[in-house]
Amino acid sequence: MEGRPQPYIRTEGPFKVCIVLPCYNEAGVISGTARVLLKELDALIHSGLASTDSYLCCVDDGSRDGTWEEISGLAAADPRVEGIKLSANFGHPNALIAGLFSNRSRADILITMDADLQDDVAVIGRMLQEHRNGKRVVYGVRLDRKVDSLSKRIAAALFYRIMGRMNKRMIRGHADFRSADTGVIADLERFGEANIYLRGIFPLIGYPSAEVRFIRQERHAGDSKYPFRKLFSLAWEGITSFTTTPLKLVFMAGLFMFLVAFGLGVWILWAAFNDHPIQGWASLALLTVTFSAINTMSIGVIGEYVGKIYKEVKHRPRYIIETTTHGG
Ligand code: UDP
Ligand code: MG
Repeated sequence: MEGRPQPYIRTEGPFKVCIVLPCYNEAGVISGTARVLLKELDALIHSGLASTDSYLCCVDDGSRDGTWEEISGLAAADPRVEGIKLSANFGHPNALIAGLFSNRSRADILITMDADLQDDVAVIGRMLQEHRNGKRVVYGVRLDRKVDSLSKRIAAALFYRIMGRMNKRMIRGHADFRSADTGVIADLERFGEANIYLRGIFPLIGYPSAEVRFIRQERHAGDSKYPFRKLFSLAWEGITSFTTTPLKLVFMAGLFMFLVAFGLGVWILWAAFNDHPIQGWASLALLTVTFSAINTMSIGVIGEYVGKIYKEVKHRPRYIIETTTHGG
């Protein structure tokens, strides 16, 4: 496995491009998205960047709203649209992984983007151009966050600040709009972790990479599947799957408590020897609750990592494919 030869990497183009679109309850947008992307593929074919057999792969992540019927219809109407139906909702990262791994050996360049066209389609050409220049991974980086709510923007700023401190290879403003060649996806397959955090893993894989900037559009239709609560858990997931810094913070909290305790001890002894016995149920109660709060929080943080180990050890499949439109 370690010495596995890299698959053939095409650098000249035209590239056989596969655009992976994770879809969860996107019945209202997917056909419009497919239409726009197919038009873009035509333009890319025309400019010599994409080959004529480039295609879209829509991954239905256990939708309940007829998304799969839409995808099947699109696939029947145009051979350049394919669909993969997962057996249940496995979550955005796993839907992306399912799309990438299933198409890895069939395309030169694999691009992932949101099914709601919030990522700028016009940027795809620039991504392919970067591959032509020898880059292996190209990150779509959003220029501004005007379309997001204030709370989402504050949360994002805070998250990047914390993450940036803990993980130097984090790319600010990059979500899951990226392109990579088949060799990079082959390397990604070797990251067998259950708690996969794709935004962080790609920079970890390495290789020459580039960033292309774009302005994030409004969602065409439907609702965001990332309400604030889910965003928070994504951020927490990102931090705890990538660094053990919170564990160090637990130690620091312990050290702090020790110093406080030491100071208190000195003070109490001093008071006792100087005939000032310290009274006070209040101070005692305050100390007890403070220390037990820090203790409980620390156990929570450690528990988070234990939970992660538990999930990894079970080694469950990350996705299950129920059916595809191309019978593969
Ligand atoms: N998505 C998915 N599985 C999920 C949640 C979301 O495949 O469990 C897809 C969704 O259909 C969309 C993309 O992931 O194509 C991003 O989701 P969304 O647009 O709701 O997030 P936002 O753009 O608001 O952050
Ligand atoms: Mg979106």
